[in-house]
Amino acid sequence: MKAIEDKEGNIFRILSAAISEGIIIVNEEQKIVASNEAANFMFGYERDELVGTSLDQLIPREYKHTHTKQVDQFMENNDPRQMGHGRDLYGLRKDGNVFPLEAGLNPFNIYNSRYVLALVTDISVRKDQENEILELNTRLEQKIEERTQELQRTIKELKKEVAKRKRAEYKIMESLRKERELNELKTKFLSLVSHEFKTPLSGILTSATLIGKYPETDQQDKREKHLKTIVSKVKYLNNILNDFLSIERLESGKATYKFHTFPLSKVVNEVIYNANLLLKEGQRINYPQNIDPIFIYFDEKILELALTNLINNAVKYSPEHTDIDIEELAENDMLTIKIIDQGIGIPEKEQKYIFNKYFRAENALLNQGTGIGLHIVKSHLESLGGGISFESEENKGSIFTITFPTKINSN
Ligand code: ADP
Repeated sequence: MKAIEDKEGNIFRILSAAISEGIIIVNEEQKIVASNEAANFMFGYERDELVGTSLDQLIPREYKHTHTKQVDQFMENNDPRQMGHGRDLYGLRKDGNVFPLEAGLNPFNIYNSRYVLALVTDISVRKDQENEILELNTRLEQKIEERTQELQRTIKELKKEVAKRKRAEYKIMESLRKERELNELKTKFLSLVSHEFKTPLSGILTSATLIGKYPETDQQDKREKHLKTIVSKVKYLNNILNDFLSIERLESGKATYKFHTFPLSKVVNEVIYNANLLLKEGQRINYPQNIDPIFIYFDEKILELALTNLINNAVKYSPEHTDIDIEELAENDMLTIKIIDQGIGIPEKEQKYIFNKYFRAENALLNQGTGIGLHIVKSHLESLGGGISFESEENKGSIFTITFPTKINSN
């Protein structure tokens, strides 16, 4: 079919020339039966050049398949609507250029034949604007993304800075705390010194005065008795001073250790010798068995400090006529020493505090003491990979056990 009847064709031409949208009419076979000026111009054809040709040639190749299907559906349903709703449509110019378009399809019947009138609009300009907007949006999003990343970097830096400051603050607080504790310790020391030193010092003074009262040669035993008192009290004061020096070093982080190999018996003998000066009536310290051949690699001063504290406590917190036993066990490069007494023991409810600095159990308060010895022993031993524990029952006795790693040689 070339065109709708000439007369109608003329009317169509006059009307369609006045419309700015392109008009293309196709028949059931999708052949173009009419097109207006605007449509010809849009697709780059001369007047009437499109008439009789297939609609196909106005559609870019990649859209042909879906397009044909859509037009067929329109023919079947017979309802006018906008084509390409929700997706992009493109037209193909005679010169091969592709351009975006919008098409409204209107099916109708004339002389028992079905046609579709397509109102076509070139939307290149709108698409360009849309693309421009899209591009602007993309650039904006990129900028936002860049700014967000920049902000995140700044936040990260700030967080680092805050953490740094917090660490610095913590360090300052720590050193302030240490300083405060040290000050507390000094205050405590001064009050302890004045309190703890008073009794032994006045004892020393009394003994020294009394010695002067025994000038005769046959009064040597009397002199010796007072000399022994003086020596034991001086040793007691010396131990307290050692404990204080030790705690000061521990708390200021200046504790240093010196390792060397020495016979275990050397330290044990020395400590027991000194403790013997403190014994009450009928008290006895039993030496550990078979320690002579044992040589250990450890800090001698720390072992001496630990044993002195434990053995002196056993003496101090046990009544007259009791035994103090010392046992030792060397196993797997660990040395264990037990000090066993039959003394006043530690009340059960106070046992958990016994290693706290300055803590003294209620039943011990009649005896002289500072409450720092066990704390120091525990701190030192733990620093050296060892430890201390105890079992105790009030009025029955206590067993204090120290363990520490050492290379043990026995001859
Ligand atoms: P100090 O003997 O100078 O008070 P320590 O730190 O050596 O300080 O001991 C802390 C506390 O543990 C003592 O005051 C005492 O209550 C308890 N204690 C330690 N050893 C014994 C023991 N062998 N028997 C009973 N109580 C003990």
